[in-house]
Amino acid sequence: MVWWQWPLLAAFSELEHRIWTRHGGVSPAPYDSLNLSYTVGDASAHVRQNRTLVRQAMGLAELISVGQVHGSNTLILMDRQTIREAGEVRGIDILITNLPGIGLLIKQADCQAVALYDPEQRVIANIHCGWRGNVQNVIGQAVGRLQEAFGSRPAALYAGISPSLGPCCAEFKNFQQEMPPEFWQYQVRPTYFDLWQISVDQLLAAGLPREHIQLAGLCSRCQAEDFFSYRRERVTGRNGTVVALGE
Ligand SMILES: [Zn+2]
Repeated sequence: MVWWQWPLLAAFSELEHRIWTRHGGVSPAPYDSLNLSYTVGDASAHVRQNRTLVRQAMGLAELISVGQVHGSNTLILMDRQTIREAGEVRGIDILITNLPGIGLLIKQADCQAVALYDPEQRVIANIHCGWRGNVQNVIGQAVGRLQEAFGSRPAALYAGISPSLGPCCAEFKNFQQEMPPEFWQYQVRPTYFDLWQISVDQLLAAGLPREHIQLAGLCSRCQAEDFFSYRRERVTGRNGTVVALGE
């Protein structure tokens, strides 16, 4: 099993996080091999085993994931009952918890996982953010949830943006229908957009300092050997980014 980390977040010893590559799982092609999604056509037994591998490698009591829909609804895990009921509940793209030992899993194949950590209130968030998430400012909404529910100060938050579709590959031929005009300035050449910079700017607008934001800067579509890419492969697996508070 092979994973990446954001050094900015790895500096916090009480925080556990891993950006899992596609290596080291049990799924056959085209899901080879650490596919963490039940809804892409892979056998459930393989996904279950892959998730167990991830959970055990990180020493976690629970690994929580939900049915992501490119929306901006939030699931806040503050008690054991919510955790029991959380299994793949549909329509959620923001996971938040202040409980230790609970891994928040975001599944991706080109979309961003954006991890947030508040070292003052000891609370974490993991956000599923594709371009539709950027359009809805799911990132800003997640920061708002942390402020409301935990009293987080945006200026105290840290953020990591995972490997995902880079400006080299983020082509939107129909951007005039799909992207609001305020995003058009993010074109790096005609019809290609810098979604990474959009996310950085949305974090800044939410009140995070630039030095609290780390961008992985790896393109999932270019880096075929390490990451699943929906744009490249269409039928493929999902990588996982997991964030957890230590016990
Ligand atoms: Zn690329």
